Amino acid sequence: ALLFDVEAVRRDFPQLHREVNGHPLAWLDNGATTLKPRQVAEAVARYCTAGASNVHRGAHTLAREATEAYEDGRAEAARLLGAPDPAQVVFVRGTTEAVNLVAQSWGRANLGTGDEILVTAAEHHSNLVPWQLIAAERRARVRPVPLLPDGRIDQDAYRDLLGPRTRLVALTHASNVLGTVPPVAEMTALAHRHGAVVLVDGAQAVSHFPVDVTESDVDFYAFSGHKVFAPTGIGVLYGKRPLLEAMPPWQGGGNMIESVGFDRTTYAPLPHRLEAGTGHISGAAGLAAALRYLRGLDRAAATAHEERLTAHAATALAAVPGLRLVGGPPGRIGVLTFVLDGTDPLDVAHALDRLGIAVRAGHHCAQPALAAYGLTAAVRASPALYNNHQEVDRLAAALHRIAAGEEPLRE
Ligand code: PMP
Repeated sequence: ALLFDVEAVRRDFPQLHREVNGHPLAWLDNGATTLKPRQVAEAVARYCTAGASNVHRGAHTLAREATEAYEDGRAEAARLLGAPDPAQVVFVRGTTEAVNLVAQSWGRANLGTGDEILVTAAEHHSNLVPWQLIAAERRARVRPVPLLPDGRIDQDAYRDLLGPRTRLVALTHASNVLGTVPPVAEMTALAHRHGAVVLVDGAQAVSHFPVDVTESDVDFYAFSGHKVFAPTGIGVLYGKRPLLEAMPPWQGGGNMIESVGFDRTTYAPLPHRLEAGTGHISGAAGLAAALRYLRGLDRAAATAHEERLTAHAATALAAVPGLRLVGGPPGRIGVLTFVLDGTDPLDVAHALDRLGIAVRAGHHCAQPALAAYGLTAAVRASPALYNNHQEVDRLAAALHRIAAGEEPLRE
């Protein structure tokens, strides 16, 4: 087994050491957002306390420093994704904005009456609703790719759905509810045979396993900084160069132009053409620090640790009387979604919170995925690389007490 010094990593994340409701915090809500290592806080603080400046245009030292910090974030994101060129990395607010950008720009230019967008039933609403919006406008159709009972995407159905009208496939790299990790490269190759482009939602993938957009040959790839140890408000859209270059600007303003006149306005080259207005400079500095931190870890060992932890959690949770895990067997990313007989998911989350254990309850912005299991809400525990076996054991012990009626479910 690959060794991973989780306790050493934990020392880098100050928030892991706080108390909540009189108990040490067990942060098992990483699917919602991840905690930040000290290095990220320091990078953001450095910008705010010494480096505040706008980028790209100033003729002074601090503008140069800020530009370096900003572009460092872009370069680290390109490196994380295996992108050939940082100019193919567009800064956005997050995954949601990245998908909306593609839908509103690429979609408006490329979708017409009767065209089809395939969206898997495992998608987060952010990789579904933007397609519904643009489809309604362009008279195109959104078609769902169904799931198998174990949470995998039905590949036979996918093959049947692909056709001459398919323009785009919207595909998650890791489901935030089921933990499913689809065969992205294979599904992309199939889509390409039909002339369709593929947009992959990497929000839940990037913190859990290495990604390579060149190897998988996907056309667009989106992720959010805050799910990979960086601050909120900064995220990334990667795209293949010819696709990005052909996309009409979707927002106009400063930063994105080459020259502006009332007769004629021309646009800056990539990536700035798709980045109107002042960007999230401190966020990009934080993203650079987060991705550099991740790069400094032994990724194979980290992934092996997460897999051991997830397998342990799946076994421990399955032993709780009346607990039903949703989706497939472990081996997926660390997402454990479950319901407990006779309880409301929100009550369970509140009871866990009183014991210092943070999990999420609700529909997880993936109502079709839960509906495939006949559910409208569930509890989700989602470990990250800095969680340890003790935290999972605390969760399991608390759930045993809840199942036995030993914890009050209402205040
Ligand atoms: N896709 C998936 C799979 C997610 O888990 C999330 C966040 N829960 C998103 C997209 C949306 O990310 P954001 O809210 O950061 O835009």
